[in-house]
This record gives sequence, C-alpha cells and structure tokens, in this order.
Amino acid sequence: MSNFSSPRFIFITGGVVSSLGKGIASSALGALLRARGYKVRLRKLDPYLNVDPGTMSPTQHGEVYVTDDGAETDLDLGHYERFTGVPSRQSDNVTSGKIYSSVIAKERRGDYLGATVQVIPHVTDAIKDFIRADLTDEDFCLCEIGGTVGDIEGLPFLEAIRQFRNEMGHENCLFIHVTLLPFIKSAGELKTKPTQHSVRELLSVGIQPEILLCRSERSIPEGERKKIGLFCNIKPECVIEALDVDTIYDVPVKYHEQGFDEQVLRYFGLPATEKPDLTPWKKIVQRAREPEGEVTIAIVGKYTSLLDSYKSLAEALAHGGIANNVRVNLSWLDSQVFEKDGALSALDGVNGILVPGGFGERGTEGKIRAAQFAREQKIPYFGICFGMQMAVIEAARNLGGIPTATSSEFGSAGEAVIGLMTEWVKGNQLETRPSNGDLGGTMRLGAYPCALQKDSKVHQIYRADRINERHRHRYEVNITYRDILEKAGLRFCGLSPDGQLPEIVERPDHPWFIGVQFHPELKSQPLAPHPLFTSFIEAAVHQARLV
Ligand code: GLN
Repeated sequence: MSNFSSPRFIFITGGVVSSLGKGIASSALGALLRARGYKVRLRKLDPYLNVDPGTMSPTQHGEVYVTDDGAETDLDLGHYERFTGVPSRQSDNVTSGKIYSSVIAKERRGDYLGATVQVIPHVTDAIKDFIRADLTDEDFCLCEIGGTVGDIEGLPFLEAIRQFRNEMGHENCLFIHVTLLPFIKSAGELKTKPTQHSVRELLSVGIQPEILLCRSERSIPEGERKKIGLFCNIKPECVIEALDVDTIYDVPVKYHEQGFDEQVLRYFGLPATEKPDLTPWKKIVQRAREPEGEVTIAIVGKYTSLLDSYKSLAEALAHGGIANNVRVNLSWLDSQVFEKDGALSALDGVNGILVPGGFGERGTEGKIRAAQFAREQKIPYFGICFGMQMAVIEAARNLGGIPTATSSEFGSAGEAVIGLMTEWVKGNQLETRPSNGDLGGTMRLGAYPCALQKDSKVHQIYRADRINERHRHRYEVNITYRDILEKAGLRFCGLSPDGQLPEIVERPDHPWFIGVQFHPELKSQPLAPHPLFTSFIEAAVHQARLV
C-alpha cells in the first residue's frame, strides 16, 4: 500500500557516544511502520572517506554487507533488511568518499561551469540528491546518519539534512536523535546532562530534534523525562525510553510499548490509534527466550576478535535456532589455533562446524584441518565462500591425490584447484576483470542465479530448481577438477546456469556437509530464516542427540 504522493523523510542522528544502536533503532522503526502497512526504505549516510566499506578490515569496521545489486555496504543495511524484509540497494548507502568523488569528477568534467566548488552548496547538494534518488512509491524514507553529532566529518551531512527539511517542509521531515542516559552508580542517578549537550550541539547547526530516543540501562523516572523535555525543547511524550534488551528482536515491541511509532505518526499528522500486529515479533522473542534445547556451533575464522565482522552470520545462525526452537551457542575459534598439533580438541563436543568467508592465506591450514575433522568425524559442516574453497582443497589433498592442492590467492606454489576468476556471465553480459586490477568494488558481487541438481540435498533444502544468492569473491573452484573431486566424494550439486562456476558442493556420504560459494547469511531474516541455516541447525540438533 502506498499512502502518499511522495515519501516522508525521517532522519536519525546519534549523540553522546557511538555504538548506541542507531542502526537497530532505525530498523525497529522500519519494522513498526511496515507492521502498520506502510512502505519503507532505509538508508545509511556514512561520513567516512572510504568510497565504500569494501576495502576496510572487518576487524575495524565489521562485516561488509552485500546487496542484490552488488553494492558493498555498511552492516547496518543488514539490520534494515532483517527487520523490514525490504531488500537494500546500491542507492541505500553513501559515504563522504562517494559524494566527494562524484563532486570532483563533475568538477573535472567542467560541469560546474567555472564556479568555485565548495562544501556548501556543491557537497551538500550532492548529499541531498542522494537522499532523494531512486525512490518510487515509498511512504517513508528513513535515513540514518553515521557517526556521532560533533564529528567534524559529519557536518556536511547535518547541514544537508537541515537544508533538506527547509526545502521539503517541516511537515514532511522528522528529526530523531538517539542519545545515552548514563547511570552513575555512586549517585544512584541517570544523568541527563550529556543528552542536553548533544541536543545543544545539534541546535548549533540548526537542527531541533522532535523525538529523543534515550538509551539507558534503567527506566527513566517521570521527573527526568520532563526535565529532558524542558531543556531540549521536546514534548515529554516524545522523550522515548530505549532500555537495553536481551534480544534485539524485542526492540520493535519495546519501542512500540513506549509509543515511539505512535509519536512518529502523530508528528506527520497520521492516524495513530490503531495498533500494529506485532505477534510475529513476539513469537520470535518468546522462542529465543524459551528454547527447548541447545546446540553449539564452532565458527572457525580469522576475524574473531570483533564479532561484528560476522554480524549477518551470527544472526542467521540465531534464526536457524529460532526455526528449530533451540538456543545456538557460538564458539568463536581463531583458525590459526588449529595449526598446532592437538588443538583440534577444541572441536570436541561441538554439534556443527562452520568455516565462514575470509581473505588471505593466514589461518587457512587451520580451516582446512577443521574441514577434514568435520568430514572424518561426521560432524555437520557448513563452508561459506572461503569455507567451501577450504573444504575443496581438503578433499583434493587428502582424497583426490593432489597433495599440493591450493588456491591461487596464496601465490603460485602448488596446484591451484581454486583459481582467480577473470570473467563470468552477469545477466546476458560477460564481466571481465584484469588479474592485477584495483581491489575496491571489483569482486564478483551481488546476486547470481544457481541451478540445483534435482536429487541433491540442497535441492531438498531449498525446494527449488534455481536459486539466487549473493556473492563476494574473486576466486572460484576450477571446474576442470570436477571429475577428480566428485571421485573424492564431493558432489557438484549447484552450478552457475552456464555450467562454468561451481556454486555448491555437498558430500552424499556425510550427514550434513555443504559448501556454498555465496553468502546465504545475507538473506536470512528472523521472520524468514534461510533454509540452509534452518537445515544446518536441524542437523546439529540431530548430532547433539547422537552424542
Ligand atoms: N578470498 C576468497 C575469494 O576471494 C573468498 C572470499 C569470501 O569468503 N567472501 O574468492
């Protein structure tokens, strides 16, 4: 349903400290508006200078989220999709880097007709163009501004949204500010001063927020709520309490109880008395809180020092748990550990082993050993992207008679059963890449179709002949090794439609051993868990019953 001729815009800023969960807050509001039947888009405006997060280390910035149309984006877009079910697009994430590159490219072309190119108006115009672009019949467009108010690099974005509201009219734009109310133990009080300062900072750039979302570990006493309203020029009912929760999927329900969506609708003069149906969210929360059992999954990876590096993966495993009514305990293991003798004992007692996506040679021998352990001990194994490649190298070395099997990602020594892709088919076109090109934005990115073999396990799991999954890789199993690898027990049960690129391998002689060249975790949602994760956790539950 689309209710309006043009979307209403909601801008979400953050103050006091970072990591307040602005992404979850925006997503939860998106979920509430969706539950009320509105059509939404969510966008992220990131003030950093990278053109996109694709070249950033996952241990610094967290996971790189990939969209269907092949953009490498901020992980918050993953939250947006998981909470709203609306697939994100290339046009939903912009950075200062991208804005400045487009402005500078225009300047070089002479498009500014001799003008002095400046932050105001040229950069701010480019930001406003981005906010308006690629919208059709959405009722609401929610734009989250990355970083914290007061950051130097965020200023052009705040200036742009200030101008935007003047142009579009106050009735069409709402500012929401997410802040922190720290609890000072010695005083036994929640402190409002940092929030007052943060709002003052926003006011100094011409932005008066209408709704404050106050993150807090304690309930906000009525007196404090009034005080915040008074000092920050906000109606007390628009000072919304955002308490810490035990599961993020409880956030929409909790925010609704605090009247968040109601105040948003009231601001826009829309009917707010009818209640949205939040039963599906309540069911998920109940299942997450009261599971009937538990399983432990070992994740053998390289970026285990920052769990945000595997955000979608952790969520997809939780969704698999919700679907099977079990708690999924995650044991994060640095694959390098397995390069020492005896270290595999860390895998004793786990009910499933997952080797996720990754880059570079460090830690790969450990991942290969983990794949071998899972194969030999008949423990469910899920190899995702790099994890599939490692399982293939393991089979080639230990069962296929190619002891030097390797990937060309690790240099030229050995026999490359995994090779660099320099061309592949996208739609009707051939995509080509030079072998020594730029790193940024040049992988095989985004959704590609894959044909499933009829009598395979994955065919049973997906209940489909053809699937579409998102990719992010440069290397690929070399199809010319198919015969050798099939003799080594790995069935090539999913291929690109032209039959050239192996997309899925599985082991028919194993209870659950599947490697996929794509990232299924990116498409899993709490209200629609991904079938591979549901099936993997089901296999882990089965494994747990056997031991
Ligand atoms: N490094 C591997 C490649 O580029 C795997 C990438 C990944 O796991 N996303 O093919």
